[in-house]
Amino acid sequence: MRRSPIWHPFTQHALVPQMTAVASAKDAYLYTEDGRRLIDGIASWWVVTHGHCHPHIARAIGEQAARLDQVIFAGHTHEPAERLARRLIELTPDGLDRVFFSDSGSTSVEVALKMALGYWRHIGESRRRIVALEHGYHGDTIGTMSVGARSVFNAPYEPLLFEVDRVPFPHVGREQATLDALDAACRRTPVAAFIAEPLVLGAGGMLMYAPWVLQEMKRVCERHRALFIADEVMTAWGRTGTVFACEQANVVPDIACYAKGITGGALPLAVTMCREEIFEAHYSPDRRRTFFHSSSYTANPIACAAACANLELWEREPVLERIARIGAHHDRRLEAFREDARFTNVRRTGTIAALELRVADDGYLADAGPKLYAFFGRRGLLLRPLGNTIYILPPYCVTTEDLDAIYDAIAAAGDAVGV
Ligand SMILES: *Cc1c(COP(=O)(O)O)cnc(C)c1O
Repeated sequence: MRRSPIWHPFTQHALVPQMTAVASAKDAYLYTEDGRRLIDGIASWWVVTHGHCHPHIARAIGEQAARLDQVIFAGHTHEPAERLARRLIELTPDGLDRVFFSDSGSTSVEVALKMALGYWRHIGESRRRIVALEHGYHGDTIGTMSVGARSVFNAPYEPLLFEVDRVPFPHVGREQATLDALDAACRRTPVAAFIAEPLVLGAGGMLMYAPWVLQEMKRVCERHRALFIADEVMTAWGRTGTVFACEQANVVPDIACYAKGITGGALPLAVTMCREEIFEAHYSPDRRRTFFHSSSYTANPIACAAACANLELWEREPVLERIARIGAHHDRRLEAFREDARFTNVRRTGTIAALELRVADDGYLADAGPKLYAFFGRRGLLLRPLGNTIYILPPYCVTTEDLDAIYDAIAAAGDAVGV
């Protein structure tokens, strides 16, 4: 193959000389240019929900592309955005009544932070501090890296990142320490917002915590009038077993970020939804109070049409039943791993299953990750472990046979790569 000029994300080109060329995809499968079929065990980086190339979403994209492809969204609107916004307000927790569009998970979080800071400024209260959860991941822009965990991923940019307070991850049995730390942080300085991924911390290592902890964290925020920002970029759209993770804790966030699965995984789109008061604080004849945020493709009509088609699939197809079936099969197969000394921390929330392989040298940069990735690739599976953390996060059309193939491979990896 000719040398490609492309610089790939999260890819060390010195170690990965050649990319896997994918020619097409259907349902839970990727088809490579060299004629192989891969089971997409990570939903192509957590975005594909119903399956690749779903005909209903593909049709909606084609029709919208021929009708209205793109239009400036400042001072203009269009039917797919209006329809989508209304449906989102019906579907999301009661109280999230305003919808702001952007185009990625990172931008949806940037918007959330700016909304929170704008809110306090415009109502005349001096609150600037942001509190975040340890091991959190919220994106790769400077603002989202600032609120995310500091690690090898952002060490070169450290001097530019702003300070936040961090509370420890609520490990089982140590939840009170998290709640106490959040309470203490809110007493120390006037907190503008607390940001967290509800129930599952994705890039931080598929770390899971119980709904009651989320509920208690929200209570602490309420007590101190700190806004709660739910980063549901990964957890929404059925991933955790309910449409939104916050539902399981009966929590209505003040601001919520949704992206990844919002178009079923077909096109980039994101929304930041908030309570009416936050919009109200910006509503004024004073132009300085305008919410100054946009990107060129804000609320792109084709992406909005894809998202509307995604929501129609949630109505027409038994999506929650598929999700429950995946969860039940995870439990059946995970059972054996709980007693397997080669693995630890066997866990599941909704459609996400995760476990750690015991290796001599763990951590994200250890060899275990690339070795496992290559091992699974040879067996026709796309799994991309986070260091020695192996996780399964499949499209909802995945079959029981596909899941069995994945679990068989994980068991075999225990001998091939583990200690
Ligand atoms: C992926 C992710 C993001 C960033 O989304 P992008 O679309 O990649 O910018 C933010 N927050 C969470 C929780 C994520 O998993």
